[in-house]
Amino acid sequence: MAIEFPDPLWRKVFEQAWESYTTGGWGVGAVVLDAEGRLLGEGRNRSADTEAALRQLTGTPLAHAELNALAAAGDDLPTAGTVVRTTLEPCALCASAIALRRVARVEFAGADPLWHGLYATHRTHPLLAQRWPAQVGPLTDDGAPLAVLAEALPLSAYLRTRGRGAASTQAYATHSPALLGLAQAIADDDAVLDLDLDALLAAWGDRIEETQPTRLRPSVIQVGADDWERVRDVRIASLAESPQAFGSTVAQALTFDEQRWRDRAETATTWHAVLGDRSVGSITLRADPDAAGTAEITGMWVDPQARGRGAGALLVDTAVAAWRRLAGRRVVLWVVQGNEAATGLYERCGFRATGRTELEDDGRVELELERLL
Ligand SMILES: [Zn+2]
Repeated sequence: MAIEFPDPLWRKVFEQAWESYTTGGWGVGAVVLDAEGRLLGEGRNRSADTEAALRQLTGTPLAHAELNALAAAGDDLPTAGTVVRTTLEPCALCASAIALRRVARVEFAGADPLWHGLYATHRTHPLLAQRWPAQVGPLTDDGAPLAVLAEALPLSAYLRTRGRGAASTQAYATHSPALLGLAQAIADDDAVLDLDLDALLAAWGDRIEETQPTRLRPSVIQVGADDWERVRDVRIASLAESPQAFGSTVAQALTFDEQRWRDRAETATTWHAVLGDRSVGSITLRADPDAAGTAEITGMWVDPQARGRGAGALLVDTAVAAWRRLAGRRVVLWVVQGNEAATGLYERCGFRATGRTELEDDGRVELELERLL
């Protein structure tokens, strides 16, 4: 089966990436689009270029694809709806440039394990948080082979010029050995440098399609009153997916208005686990007004599609650490009897049963667990 591009502009992004690779660059390409999807500029990594080009960074490690695409798009970007499309998840340098140019949305084909999670850190700066674009990626399902190619090209370029042993290649050796093997094979094949993009896909398509993109680890962000829509959407998804685990229902949550969601944020602290900028899990910590030094964890949930990546333990550890920083001494939570997966997770996070139980109206028995700090 041939690898296909979702549309001609995605093809252009990869043509730029391939031109970068074959000219000795890092193999990353990008385009800038307006809100209607019209092309405003295109660029590629030009770290190895020796000839100057107008409005392009060339021959420097800073000559990244997104910077060059933004520079090519000129000074008068539209004030709303600008999109940067790139083969690889933006690095800190490009992410900052994208925020400065007030780009509304970033679409990337392949995740970059080195830079994944930037979204969570930039939210802590007020100006950047305000300008931070929506991020969409990596490509999955039918687009997964393009995600593999997007990751493999920079990795191949790195292997070709610097060899193994660097932090990035070691990370791939641990987490994505198949992808590292593909990248090494492309790096070892000097004949690929004479191919055009179609010939590359014809020659390497099967091998690319056999390879899985990097499996990402989630990061954690704190969400507040201004994130009420995000909090609402995750809460409703959790109630719909695990109705037996919670003491309320989707029907109840749907009756809440904006103010009600904002009020909830005032009385408790909520964190989300995120992949890219997609929320895939949630946890809430609330101080117990009747027991000094005690807080309760509620609303713990991880999207089934994101399970097995450590999101649950990350959320629990984040909430416990936050309470410890506030000089809290004890964290409690309630888990439905028989929910072995949740109980096991909490036990791995240091929680133990107190022996207290509660019988709910619907007949469920809940067990209290605690962790002393
Ligand atoms: Zn970059």
